[in-house]
Amino acid sequence: MVKKVTPDDQNRLDAGLNSLLIRTGDTNILVETGIGNKLPERLVQIFKQPAKLLDNLHSAGVAPEDIDIVINTHLHFDHCGWNTVKRAGQVVATFPKAKYYVQNGEYEHGRKQLERDAISYMSPNYDPLLENGQMVLVDGDLEISPGISVRVFPGHTANMQAVVIESGAPDENGRKKTACYISDLIPTANHIDLTWVMAFDVLPLDTIKSRKKYYASAIPEKWLTVFTHDDRTPWGYIERDERGKFSVKTV
Ligand SMILES: [Zn+2]
Repeated sequence: MVKKVTPDDQNRLDAGLNSLLIRTGDTNILVETGIGNKLPERLVQIFKQPAKLLDNLHSAGVAPEDIDIVINTHLHFDHCGWNTVKRAGQVVATFPKAKYYVQNGEYEHGRKQLERDAISYMSPNYDPLLENGQMVLVDGDLEISPGISVRVFPGHTANMQAVVIESGAPDENGRKKTACYISDLIPTANHIDLTWVMAFDVLPLDTIKSRKKYYASAIPEKWLTVFTHDDRTPWGYIERDERGKFSVKTV
């Protein structure tokens, strides 16, 4: 059996919770908000609760009111936990001026609270934002801000969206530099093989299909791939050799 990472004595692994701050010059866009600080004690025991996002933003000189747009790739609690905070017994938006974007189908699925994945969907992370009008539910691929778009890649969930970021001047092929926050379609650099899918994936066969689709653009066009849950390799270029073997070139 191939082991890429060694678990602890409770069979747990270290995982990153990598959010991405995109600064376009006039807009601050935050992709993903991690676990946050509202987990019930029983889950804090399992997942810990690092709750570092606001400190990290602060060190980058960004206050919560400076965030204009938040994009959640999906609504599992480890991707939207800091969407909201508890203040004086009430759950309110962490980023008071931001519009939050998520796929409508993702929200509808979470609302059903199905046996398979109800535990991942904690409504205080998003219901208050729908009630106050800060959350926008979108259907399918969309450019959210110039050069920043979301694209749906089914597999981990049926409506998970990746975030594609284009910047700079076009090259001789008319292509701009592209990065993609691929989220849980490829959660770490150890998940690049087509069939190394996660037990969490709701539609594992679609994960394989979506990875193929992603690689068809990302590899020839040299996209920088951002890995959500990798605590050692936050990003890199995915490559494929003549024999079909995938690797990640780190930067
Ligand atoms: Zn997830």
